Amino acid sequence: MKIGEAAAQIGVAAHALRHWEDEGVVVPGRAPSGHRDYSDEQLSRCRIVRSCQGVGMSLAEIRAVLHRGEEGRAAVIAARLSAIRAQRTSLDSAEKFLLHVRECRHDLMTRCPECSEYAG
Ligand SMILES: [Zn+2]
Repeated sequence: MKIGEAAAQIGVAAHALRHWEDEGVVVPGRAPSGHRDYSDEQLSRCRIVRSCQGVGMSLAEIRAVLHRGEEGRAAVIAARLSAIRAQRTSLDSAEKFLLHVRECRHDLMTRCPECSEYAG
């Protein structure tokens, strides 16, 4: 499959696929004409790259997790998990703040200890 078709299937721009190739994340074969030729397996790999990007991984991190035996794989996953858990804590705190503000009985937020203690 040519790069334009692969890009459309994956939902990224062709230049993104060329960048992934430069970074060694998904390296397509070449047709006899010299054009990039993406196999089904490489397309699956592209979809996995998108999933990994969706959880905030960089291409270097993705390269490290694609193969089970890759050095540093566990550390990359642990760091992502820890970042996601920190985001969850932060979102929980933001939600709690907003729920309080909605019900707050103080005329001015600055006069409310609970409103004032939220640090984002
Ligand atoms: Zn308040």
